[in-house]
Amino acid sequence: MNKTGVLKDKRYLDHDMGAYHPESPQRLEVIYDMLEESDMKGLFIDIPARKAKREELELIHSSEYIDLIASSEGKDLMYLDGDTRTSAGSYSAALLAAGGFCEAVSMVWSGKLKNAFGLVRPPGHHAERSRAMGFCIFNNIAIGARYAQKYLGLKRIVIIDWDLHHGNGTQHSFEDDPSILYFSTHQYPFYPGTGSYNEIGTGKGEGFTINVPLSPGFGNGDFIAIFERMLKPVALEFKPDMILVSAGFDIYEKDPLGGMKVTPEGFAGIARSIMNIADACCDGKMVIALEGGYHIRGQRDSVKSVLKELAAEQGTSIANLMKKVDKAMVDFALKPVMEIHKRYWKCL
Ligand SMILES: [Zn+2]
Repeated sequence: MNKTGVLKDKRYLDHDMGAYHPESPQRLEVIYDMLEESDMKGLFIDIPARKAKREELELIHSSEYIDLIASSEGKDLMYLDGDTRTSAGSYSAALLAAGGFCEAVSMVWSGKLKNAFGLVRPPGHHAERSRAMGFCIFNNIAIGARYAQKYLGLKRIVIIDWDLHHGNGTQHSFEDDPSILYFSTHQYPFYPGTGSYNEIGTGKGEGFTINVPLSPGFGNGDFIAIFERMLKPVALEFKPDMILVSAGFDIYEKDPLGGMKVTPEGFAGIARSIMNIADACCDGKMVIALEGGYHIRGQRDSVKSVLKELAAEQGTSIANLMKKVDKAMVDFALKPVMEIHKRYWKCL
């Protein structure tokens, strides 16, 4: 029996930041249409979206900030920052994204599902405790991680963030916490400005924030090599109870905002690399949240490829993809990260 869950809800389309905004309802519309195609239909178990409760949001966000977002309900455009706005349906959509993601985590943890993909909007990884940023309102992945610890009893969680941009909000949520390991690859220097390799966490959390800043031009094999060489040994040493993934499809080769070169097959390979880690340490338990991705067709094809990998409909060979690695570029990116982290991780 197939045990891959998909979280989808038409109300995620009600968050609309205006014509010409790259983070558009159309991003999900085409993905939801894709799920109805003959080779996808019936492959996945539906995860019911639900609104996040106040106390769940407050695991990550301040009360004043939640009130501010709540006040946008039913109103036309309200500007939260230079590129993040709300529409009448945004508050509901944001509640359903965070709450739906918690539900996905819960269903995977209980064993009803092996893994899951939250096809949600608005995205979350830039959202800070008291501030919307970079198209993000509530930090879905951070809320899901804390929810898993507080309500489901998980101890250690790995959050992997392969979005083009650094997940500043997620990092800041857990930087002093050794129970949540945050691992991010991102174009750098770039929006939002954070994510240098020497941001390694603070206090007791030192060593549990791992940033791999990248110049543009990284492709399929390069990303997989980084995950295999750096993430895999560290994650196996950390021994998480579950893996959460901030999946950004803005590292797609034709994304209008990014300079990376990942193809749909490459995304499946990246997912496979993470699935192998999850199989080795937490019975395959893994939940993905959709973050960025602005090439509408490319994101759709890439999400499809990842979903098929999750459902074991295809077995992408990471060895094949790793035949095309720019070793010099990967070595250059990993060297300072390994150097700074070897004092925290025996495997390095
Ligand atoms: Zn992004």
